[in-house]
Amino acid sequence: MKQVLTSIVGNASLKRKLYSDILSSSLSHAYIIEGKKGSGKHTLAYLLAASVSCENSKNESLPTPCLTCSTCRRILEGNSPDVILVSKEKDKVFLSVDIIRELREDVNLVANELDTKIYVIEDAGLMTTEAQNALLLTLEEPPAFVKFFLLCENSESLLETIKSRCQKVSTEPIDISDIDTFLQKNNTDAKRLKLSSPESYNELLMASEGTIGKAIELLDENKLEQTLAARALARDFLGAISKKCSSELFASIIGRFDKKRDVIQTQFYTIETALRDVIAIQRTEDAPLLFFHSRDEALSFADSVNTRKLMSVYSALKEAQDSISQNANMRLTLISFFANINII
Ligand SMILES: [Zn+2]
Repeated sequence: MKQVLTSIVGNASLKRKLYSDILSSSLSHAYIIEGKKGSGKHTLAYLLAASVSCENSKNESLPTPCLTCSTCRRILEGNSPDVILVSKEKDKVFLSVDIIRELREDVNLVANELDTKIYVIEDAGLMTTEAQNALLLTLEEPPAFVKFFLLCENSESLLETIKSRCQKVSTEPIDISDIDTFLQKNNTDAKRLKLSSPESYNELLMASEGTIGKAIELLDENKLEQTLAARALARDFLGAISKKCSSELFASIIGRFDKKRDVIQTQFYTIETALRDVIAIQRTEDAPLLFFHSRDEALSFADSVNTRKLMSVYSALKEAQDSISQNANMRLTLISFFANINII
């Protein structure tokens, strides 16, 4: 059987969905590719683009895309003039109508080298309504040689009229073991870290949230240090609430929260993930875990705190997260959060 999209890690159902479309050369003219940041949306878009134009697509003994012909290589290296990346302006929050107007002018020009011209619209979810309406006119009657890939984290922000003209596919979180295999095969920093500090490497895998992009981002020395610190803080926090804890211990935990809002948000989020694992494992012992690498470690926390207390801490945590995201004073938010927990 011919292999299709073999270079995509995990994502079995996504690959199944696209398999016959690629083999029968009947890829839809427009796809919405939805998934978390770092989950491989760009990779998928470029592999689909390569599948459409691969010089070896009829060769049964080679996968599609073959990744080795010059067309595949040019596309995957981002050097094909016929695979066009459309991005928002760097200093803007939204993708403006001006960019889509430029695209519309370009759309009717025939492809330079290939038979098909492909537009990969990054951050399609950030298109203004005006931009979406402008794109809609093109999606309704595109030239036959044009395809669109709209990448977004969440397709909710797209107009129904856009969604109805596109096929939607989603990138899925990848198993930790698949991320490990991929990194060990392709990334020297990951290899080095696994050898020098297997424990930190496992922590990184868990913090990647099932996306290869995030795992690679966390290999940066500063990011890794921050992630490990946040995860250690989450464990100490759970340790503190699992016994009647002294005000000195709480004070020392408060002292470990950062002063920067985005770092505090990550610290709270990490604690939230750990707390959710403990609550989940109290309900079902084989619950999938998002924070803990070791099920035994999660179980030992689950055994030492009762569910009611965990739930109260969880709501206090959500309240603190809301305050932080609404620009409340961070120090006061932390103090009131810990005061709330202390009386639970
Ligand atoms: Zn090829």
